[in-house]
Amino acid sequence: MEPAEMSPSSSTYEVAIIGAGFVGVATALWLQRQGHRVTLIDQDPFAEGAYYGNACTIATYANIPVATPQVIKQIPSLLFNPKSPLSIRWSYLPQLMPWLVRFLCASPPGKVESIAQKLAVLLSMVNRGFEPLFKVSNAHELLESNGTMYLYSSQKRINNARPEIDLRRQNGISVQELSQSEIADLEPALNRIYHSGLLFNDAYHIRNPLKLLNKMGQAVERQGGLIVKNKAMTIKRLTPTKLSIVTEGSSISADKVVVAAGAWSRPFAAQFKDRVPLDTEQGYHLMYTGAQDLLNRPVGWADVGFYMTPMDTALRAAGTVEMGGVDNPSNPTRINLIAETVKTLLPQLNDHSSEWTGFRPSMPDSMPVIGPSANDKDVFYAFGHGHIGMTLSGITGKIIADLISNNPLDIDISPFRVNRFN
Ligand SMILES: Cc1cc2nc3c(=O)[nH]c(=O)nc-3n(C[C@H](O)[C@H](O)[C@H](O)COP(=O)(O)OP(=O)(O)OC[C@H]3O[C@@H](n4cnc5c(N)ncnc54)[C@H](O)[C@@H]3O)c2cc1C
Repeated sequence: MEPAEMSPSSSTYEVAIIGAGFVGVATALWLQRQGHRVTLIDQDPFAEGAYYGNACTIATYANIPVATPQVIKQIPSLLFNPKSPLSIRWSYLPQLMPWLVRFLCASPPGKVESIAQKLAVLLSMVNRGFEPLFKVSNAHELLESNGTMYLYSSQKRINNARPEIDLRRQNGISVQELSQSEIADLEPALNRIYHSGLLFNDAYHIRNPLKLLNKMGQAVERQGGLIVKNKAMTIKRLTPTKLSIVTEGSSISADKVVVAAGAWSRPFAAQFKDRVPLDTEQGYHLMYTGAQDLLNRPVGWADVGFYMTPMDTALRAAGTVEMGGVDNPSNPTRINLIAETVKTLLPQLNDHSSEWTGFRPSMPDSMPVIGPSANDKDVFYAFGHGHIGMTLSGITGKIIADLISNNPLDIDISPFRVNRFN
């Protein structure tokens, strides 16, 4: 590692990170950059968590929370229409209730404006968070900078999206509005069932997130970091300066612990009496091998809430939301909904070659938890990134590393504090 990349702080720490998803691995790389020693602990074989199946977008435009007045107004039709982007497993409703109440509380216009502004600040730092990580991982070849497109099926749909378009622009996010013929010029393979669309020119995408994560993991190991496959059970305080992560069968001691266990992070925070309303928005993807050349950029179909993204050797259709907890099995109705809708947009496609489901770690206000525990100075949280966890992983890692190194922060992180719902 270049000396210039080391932390100006004199202390270097042993840091254990629970969760080797994008957030955990990006945090490990930033900590190493600042001179710390890291151990990543994951219950699954490396690179098989929620990141594996995402829609590949570095969504620097995604400052609009899920809970908006428009979404709340549509909730009855969203929940009872099998073709809607959102579904709930009804037997999970009692457990979901506290989350839903906070979701509703986050949806009034003033709240939405405030969240959109805070997320926009974080999103404006995405490239600063990623650039050194792409460099150390030799990952630039996996990036594609053609923007991201949203499509709307009718004038009514784009009218409904108007407040969101305005909120993006007010926060400095570039949005180009597209007519039907402009969309056809940019994406000629699409069936012209769309009415109009948007282009986010500053966005880019990853041709293969799994390859990116593997490259980042290899960089962690090249720089002396450890990646351990084991399930973390609890975090114990051993001495005033030492913690221990008890895993199935062993324990790992550390000066600092970062909880980056995605949708599974809540019990670790609860151990330190930090109560977080974290739940999951389950999503799906379908792969179309060899069909990557049909599109030039990720294209989102707003009606059903998924993207079609050209990857290195396939087209991936990924998205939709199902609320049913982290033990919910894959739901064929959601898979069929995506499969049928993709065929209406790209009728030339063959059937999909594989399918997948994964669990977004979701907070009711769509803002992540980034920062220290309210009750233990050596425990840090980096989870709850919902729909934009890959996008925000680099900057989250930088913030956590700066906190641990005691470096000045580039951003006010109080909106992302763990106890903001108390
Ligand atoms: C369909 C879909 C499409 C998406 N599209 C995008 C997109 O285009 N752009 C974007 O930015 N984001 C996207 N996302 C969201 C993004 O994938 C997630 O926000 C992100 O993966 C969260 O990263 P994470 O590291 O916090 O959690 P995860 O990726 O879930 O990683 C957490 C890790 O913790 C491990 N873990 C959990 N419990 C334990 C334990 N007890 N012990 C040890 N390890 C444990 C898990 O095995 C897992 O590997 C999408 C998500 C889905 C589902």
